[in-house]
Order: sequence, then structure tokens, then C-alpha cells
Amino acid sequence: MKLLMFSFNFIFALFAFAGLHSDQSLPLASYGNPDVFDRFKSLLVAVREQKISPDSARSEFRSIMTEVRKAYPHNGEHPGGKNMVFPLAGSNYTAVGGKGLGYRDVGFDLFDHTVSGSHPAHDIFILDRNYDCIDDRKNTYIDIVSVGNGIVMGTEKNWQDTSEYRGGNYVWVYDFERGGLWYYAHHRKVTVEPGQVVEPGNKLGEVGRTGFNAKSKRSDTHLHLMFLDLEEDLLPCPVNSFDWLKEARTVTYSSEPRYAARRKWMDYPKMTAPSSKPLTSSFTAFNKLPARKKTFSVKAGRL
Ligand SMILES: [Zn+2]
Repeated sequence: MKLLMFSFNFIFALFAFAGLHSDQSLPLASYGNPDVFDRFKSLLVAVREQKISPDSARSEFRSIMTEVRKAYPHNGEHPGGKNMVFPLAGSNYTAVGGKGLGYRDVGFDLFDHTVSGSHPAHDIFILDRNYDCIDDRKNTYIDIVSVGNGIVMGTEKNWQDTSEYRGGNYVWVYDFERGGLWYYAHHRKVTVEPGQVVEPGNKLGEVGRTGFNAKSKRSDTHLHLMFLDLEEDLLPCPVNSFDWLKEARTVTYSSEPRYAARRKWMDYPKMTAPSSKPLTSSFTAFNKLPARKKTFSVKAGRL
């Protein structure tokens, strides 16, 4: 009997890890427009390639965000750094460049690619003297994890060395609680898909050097992290998230997202309520298996 239970648990764990839940076992509902993810990506590409005017881009963005807010109404409250996980596994706010002073939002316009000079974001560094994206102290690639509960709105996975665009490989996540968008950039690897629901500590990818500036030797290996709040008219407004990053807790290991990408809205309010603890499912247990990764101390990377 014991053996039987063990096998059952093992098979369950395997299925859980592979994301093979059936829809019946999840409190899901699909509604809204799944094309929203395609529209979001097309918009980003059009802005980057200057194939859309800033005004048209703004109105398309508002229309997309109207769909998002219909699917995930926001109560207007802002939890700040509460229940937030630091975006690099095993790291904390002391790895943020310039002690948090690298944030400059003056002149920022998400929809106008001809303007530059602003940096409404924080760069979060790993220690990588030889630029191989492996952290020299931890001797491993460093996982980028979702800071909050949200849905992946768009990704780029195919950045090439010859591409000139700045973000490289990236992930955009709409944050259910904060009601805005997180932009994580310069990944060596992106491991989520548009439409995938993620929770704090879930792996989004690995820190890398993709992006026109990030690949150059002048740049130390880092994650570029930006948060855009949505104003009442649903247009984006950058917010300095440094205080939240200070409050964020560190996860030593990333966890795998519980839900596979479905490219449709999921009924978030019926999902598990956000908890102050990381995932308590079999994923956490799986992630804690010693074979997966060497233990490393929870010390921050270099400034
Ligand atoms: Zn940056």
C-alpha cells in the first residue's frame, strides 16, 4: 500500500512538474480576447521599428489594456512591495545598480522609439567578470523570477547578436495586484509564454547579455527591470520600484509556474489567494531536491 501511495505521489509530481493538469482540475475560465497577446507583441515590434506613430501606438495600448482590465479588474489599491519576491533568485536589493539611483524617468515615452536618455528602471547585477552570464560566486546561471502574481503579456526569445534593439530577450508581465506592467529585459533565456499565469518566485528566464547595449563589454551583466503603472486613462506611467525591491523577499530557488501557457484569460480571483509564502505545492518540494542546484548563500551580487 505504501508503495502504491508512493508511486501515485510520484506520478502526480511528474504530471504536476510537466504542467499536465487537466482544465477540469483547475478553477479556470476563459473569456475575453486571446488575440490580445498577439496585439501586444505586434505593438511592441511596431514601436521598436517605428512603423506606428506614437499617437496610434498609445490608442492601441489603451485598447489592449482595456481588455486586460476587463479580465483582471484592479481595485485601485497598491500593495507596493508587499508579498513581492526579489526578481533574481538568491539576491536582494543591494544588487541594484547605483544604490537605486539609476532610475531616471524624465523624457520617457514607451511609444516613441526616437527618444532616448531616460532609464525609468533599475539594473540588477550579477557578478560576471568574464561576461559568460554565469555568476562567478555562485557558479551558475541566475534565474529571473516573477516579483508578483500576473499574466505574461509578451516575450521576445529570438534576439540575435546582430539585432540592434535594446531590450534583447524580454518578458512583460501584467501584475494583478499592482495593476501595472513589469518589463524584465536582457535575458539569455526566456522560459515562459504569453498567456501564462505566474506567481511570485516563478522562473521567467535567466540573466543574460542580450540587447544592443547589454551585449557590449562596457556593460556588466544585469537584469533591466521596469514597472509601468496604468493611469486612469490606462496609459503607462513609470514608477520607481526601489523601495519595493528593498521590501521584497529573496527566494533561494525559483519555482516552475503552476499553469501551462493557454493564451487565454484565466479566472484569477478564483485561483489561490496570494499568500505571503512561496508556493507550497509539490513544486516547491521538487525545487528543493538537492540534485537540482547546488546550495548557495543568499548574498547579493555586486553593485
Ligand atoms: Zn537598464
